[in-house]
Amino acid sequence: MKKPAIRWSESPEDVASFRAALLAFYDVNGRDLPWRGSSDPYAILVSEIMAQQTRVETVVPYYHRWMERFPTVEVLARAPEDDVLKAWEGLGYYSRARNLHRAAKVVRESHGGRLPDTALGLRDLPGVGPYTAGAVASIAFARAEPAVDGNVRRVYARLFDEPAPSAQQVTRWASEVVDPGRPGDFNQSLMELGATVCTPRGPRCEVCPVATWCRARSAGTVEVRPQPKKRAAVRREVRQVAVLLRSAEVPEVWMTRRPSAGLLAGLWEFPSRLIDDIAESGDWMGEIARECGVGPAPEATGLPEVSHLFTHLHVTYLPVLLRVGSTDDRGPTDDRAIESRNDAAGGSRAGAPEVERWVPLHDLGGLAVPIAQQRIAQVTREACGEGNG
Ligand code: SF4
Repeated sequence: MKKPAIRWSESPEDVASFRAALLAFYDVNGRDLPWRGSSDPYAILVSEIMAQQTRVETVVPYYHRWMERFPTVEVLARAPEDDVLKAWEGLGYYSRARNLHRAAKVVRESHGGRLPDTALGLRDLPGVGPYTAGAVASIAFARAEPAVDGNVRRVYARLFDEPAPSAQQVTRWASEVVDPGRPGDFNQSLMELGATVCTPRGPRCEVCPVATWCRARSAGTVEVRPQPKKRAAVRREVRQVAVLLRSAEVPEVWMTRRPSAGLLAGLWEFPSRLIDDIAESGDWMGEIARECGVGPAPEATGLPEVSHLFTHLHVTYLPVLLRVGSTDDRGPTDDRAIESRNDAAGGSRAGAPEVERWVPLHDLGGLAVPIAQQRIAQVTREACGEGNG
């Protein structure tokens, strides 16, 4: 059977009707989100970056805190990276935070503190891809640019009944139909439709404002458009984690900083090793104990395991608690331990980045700590009878 034609490709009036139907839907059903209605390009950029791969409900409190802490590009550009990562803590995909920070520096240094006002100009900023550039250009600067995210791609795949449309194809469709009068609202109406009506499973076609344009609905193929992607296999690893707990006036734990590139770059964690490496890594706990100045490793007590799923990696953490004595026999001071580590790494003491330190167990010293590591801290607090304190 011949597929029904997409009517807007044949009739300008139909394009106008399609746009009007979507905008009317958005005017009535658009969710009340804190960045909607804002014309501050920086605020819109922050909301768009935060909402990538993250549910809007999760983003809202982060967005409020972020805008309070970094209300302008200038403030963000001048902030230390640790503060930026701390404000992002728990949102995941931390490269987004680092790129946003770098983008703010570029805007301050090369654009006089103002975001570029075209999609092309925005694309030059770190971490800004075609979707984000189109979204910010259309919402903040009223540019008639497409903004194709996963939701929008799904809507178009169904409207055109295409099992696997390429990014270029969807962008071309979206460019043809974006409303030149209200491009930001139009793009958001498509995102909203994808998020609330044309959902991955169980789309509500009966209330869809553009159902009459939908080929997949006519063909009965909605549930298989777009074709499901093959999921990448999830890798698994098991890590032993050393929780060195120092019984100072305030109990403290020994934390190390991850390298500045790769997964969770620059965040803080408990020292750990792959369980498969235990046979080869010798007296690993003894080494750590010496490194943080507490001498031979004390007896280890097992703590409840903690699991975490990264995008394609499932990690099981097996924490062990090593109590390392009171303030009287705790070995070198923090500074000595850190300096000796910096010397060993060949760095200068002044200005060398900290890579490890003692931090209070109850709040982890305000460091940026990934969720799984926070849960390890929590099981440690529970084992010590500190609960949430
Ligand atoms: Fe999506 Fe159904 Fe609307 Fe088509 S009719 S765009 S499948 S919600």
